[in-house]
Parts: sequence; structure tokens; C-alpha cells
Amino acid sequence: MRWLLFLGALVGSGICGRDKFFGDQVFRINVRNGDEIRKLTQLVNSDHFKLNVWKSPSTFDRPVDILVPSVSLLPVKSFLKSQGLDYSVTIEDLQALLDNEDEEMQHSEGQERSGDSFNYGSYHSLEAIYHEMDSIATDFPDLASRVKIGETFEKRPMYVLKFSTGGGKKRPAIWLNAGIHSREWISQATAIWTARKIVTDYQKDPAVTSILEKVDIFLLPVANPDGYVYTQTQNRLWRKTRSRNPGSRCIGADPNRNWNASFAGEGASDNPCSEVYHGSHPNSEVEVKSVVDFIQKHGDFKCFIDLHSYSQLLMYPYGYTVKKAPDAEELDDVARSAAKALASHSGTKYQVGPTCTTVYPASGSSIDWAYDNGIKYAFTFELRDTGHYGFLLPASQIIPTAEETWLGLKTIMEHVRDNLY
Ligand SMILES: [Zn+2]
Repeated sequence: MRWLLFLGALVGSGICGRDKFFGDQVFRINVRNGDEIRKLTQLVNSDHFKLNVWKSPSTFDRPVDILVPSVSLLPVKSFLKSQGLDYSVTIEDLQALLDNEDEEMQHSEGQERSGDSFNYGSYHSLEAIYHEMDSIATDFPDLASRVKIGETFEKRPMYVLKFSTGGGKKRPAIWLNAGIHSREWISQATAIWTARKIVTDYQKDPAVTSILEKVDIFLLPVANPDGYVYTQTQNRLWRKTRSRNPGSRCIGADPNRNWNASFAGEGASDNPCSEVYHGSHPNSEVEVKSVVDFIQKHGDFKCFIDLHSYSQLLMYPYGYTVKKAPDAEELDDVARSAAKALASHSGTKYQVGPTCTTVYPASGSSIDWAYDNGIKYAFTFELRDTGHYGFLLPASQIIPTAEETWLGLKTIMEHVRDNLY
């Protein structure tokens, strides 16, 4: 009986029941021509090897990262060799990275439970992030409030922090979104750090003060809460929502292919088992619909920024077409200034450009929807790193990442402040 209780406690804590990746590795494959892209696309699309794509085949100069399960290591290596594809192993021991991450998180949570304040240099549970949002609103009642914008598929609340000095008067607004892909943990961590930064720097940093005198900021740190909880309890590498797909054993849709912007076009899949499944119809994912409804009801958003990882990119519309957005020149200028400000912190280099021609075609994405709905300043950040750790960026890099990203975000928000339309 005691044993059963002990086992129950271990399973209940989540970590024990989570999928293991013993012996799995991440490969980086270099791509030199269209023929190699074709061969790699064939490889990643075959169900046979049970690969998990971290970075998809796109243009020639972008390498491809794939997680290869231990059972497929030999066959994948011989496939790559037989096709003359050049590769290296970027993560030799995936489970070791996951174990380190777990250990760090447990340690930090233990300290927080025994009275330490929220550790911004650590990854957190959804519950802890929500609690910290509440604390920010409590600490700065005249500036910040926690607003519920909807509920997830699994009935979890979706919260945004609203920062406003307008005293209830409606102002033009900026939307900051993070964690729409649940495994991109650096994005949720950067977002909650950013929330604290905004309240701390108001009336200290003239830029923040002047931004908030003209516009409100809405920040959604966990745009895919069900997925985020799933990454902590079941599978660290889960990307999609957790909705059910009638007629399929596969779960979830890619919430960044689900927006009503050239829905079901290029760069999305109609296969519910795909990592880029677009969902049954636009806004089929309640997490996306909640944001769309909120933004439309508000009616005066001027800027939409979506934080992802990884690759160190700053992109603007379009993702669904190679056609130039009417504001492409201005958006490119703003993005270049933001990337420059970001790099001034510790030299982190970002590549800048429209999504479609910088990485790959992607239909149904958040920033294309925002842009096509009159929100001109629409940007996607792909945060650190370039693939050394990929989605498993160590917690020691959270604060440096958040600090440099903040300089980029502030550059964009200052431009919005000065160019309201
Ligand atoms: Zn993403």
C-alpha cells in the first residue's frame, strides 16, 4: 500500500510519467541545393523513422535540425550517407539535457515554495506563471491588471496582463504574444520577464513611460496553456494544441497555422498527425479564437508581436505569399533597428526579413492575420539559440535572452508610439 502511494506521488508530480528520450539525438543536416532539400523533405515526411522536426527544410542556406529516436539512428545515418547528405550531431544526449532542465526547475520551485520570490531565471509551471501575473497586478494596481480572455480546450483560463495608464479610457494598443508553440519555453519565460520589466521601468525609463502614455500593452505569456502543461507532464517536445480531431487518433492542431490568413495554404498540412496541421477551419482552436475575438472587440490594435524560438530571426508579413507586403519597407527598417538594438546587449545576431522568403512559406499564421486585419506593425521573433540547444535552451540563458529581446521590443514599441495611424 505504501508503495502504491509512493508510486502515485511520483506519477502525480508529472516528471516521472513524462516521455523519455534515452539515446535520442538531434542531427543538423546541411543543405546545399534544391535536390538535397527534396531528399530531406522526403526523409522528414516519411513516418518510417519517427523523426521529430525541429527546423524544417526551407532554403539552401538554412540547415535542417531533426530529432532522431535511438531506434532510427542507424537507418537514418545510412540514409544520409547513401544520399550524400552532410550532417553533424548537435545534441548527443537529449535525455541528459532534459534531466538538467528538470532538476533546475524542481530546485527553483522548491526555493520559491519555501518563500523566495519568483525566480525569473528559471522555467515555471503554468500555475506559477499565472500566480506571478497576479502578483504583478497586485504590486502595481494603477498600471497592470490580469484579464481573462477565454478558456482553453481543456478548460484552463487564458490570462493576459494589461498595462495601461489611461484610467479606463481606451487607447491604441500593442499585443505581445508568447508560447503559441508550447515547447518553445524561452518565449513564455521571456514574456513573463518582460511583464515585470514593464512595471519596474515605468516612470524610470523615459521610453517605457512615454510608450505607456500613448498606448496600452496587452501581454499573453502563455498562448497555448494546454500544450504548455503537456510539455511539463507528458512530452517536453509537444508543439500543438491538445484538441481532439474527429476520426483521427492524433491530437491537436498547429495554432500558428490556424488563423484566418490564407488558411490551409502553403506551409500547412491537412493531416491531423502533422506538426503543422492547420485544424478543421480557421479559428477552430479556441485558444486562437479567444485572441481573435478579444482583438476584434477591442478594435484599435496597432502592433502584434509573436515570440517563438528558436533560430534568432525577426520576421514580418507575409508568410503565406512571396509577394511583398505594402508596408514591407517600413517594417524592414523597424525590424533592422530592433535587431541592432538587440545585438547591442551581448552581440546576439538576428536575421531579418519577411517570413516566407526568410524561412519558409507558412499560411494561417498570427502575424499575417494581424497584418491583413489592419494591424500594421506585425512581427515574429524567433528567440535564441541557433540550434546548439534548440528548444532546450538552458535556464541560465533566460535572463540574457529576455534582456536583449527587451531592447528589440522597446525599439518596435517606440516606433509604434511615434507612428500611430
Ligand atoms: Zn514557434
